[in-house]
Amino acid sequence: MSDCIFCKIASKEIPSPLVYEDDTVVAFPDLEPKAPVHILVIPKKHIESLAALKEEDKELAAHILVDVIPQIARDLGIAEKGFRTVANTSDDGGQTVKHLHFHLLGGRFMQWPPG
Ligand code: 5GP
Ligand code: ZN
Repeated sequence: MSDCIFCKIASKEIPSPLVYEDDTVVAFPDLEPKAPVHILVIPKKHIESLAALKEEDKELAAHILVDVIPQIARDLGIAEKGFRTVANTSDDGGQTVKHLHFHLLGGRFMQWPPG
């Protein structure tokens, strides 16, 4: 999508230091980190949210959850102590950027419940 900030980061139109990249996924630090480690993991393909995932996206979604997020957590040294993965979805979910993204937060104890 032409006016989507995360599509522009995925296509490198907007430069961002990437902590992970493969054919279908990129990950980069959040602009306003809420924890010592705060990474956004996104599909390169524009998908609006978790609620917009289609049958054809199953492999991509599994890849992000099974392969990418645990690998980044290991690479950044937060896998052992633990981390939080969040996908805010639509208005009540607090989603501000309408391109599917998984927050990967770690490096401190996470309170529950979130606000
Ligand atoms: P949401 O509120 O949609 O779950 O999360 C969007 C996140 O994207 C926020 O944590 C916000 O700080 C981050 N963000 C918004 N614009 C940019 C940007 O241009 N670059 C980066 N790296 N993060 C952004
Ligand atoms: Zn997009």
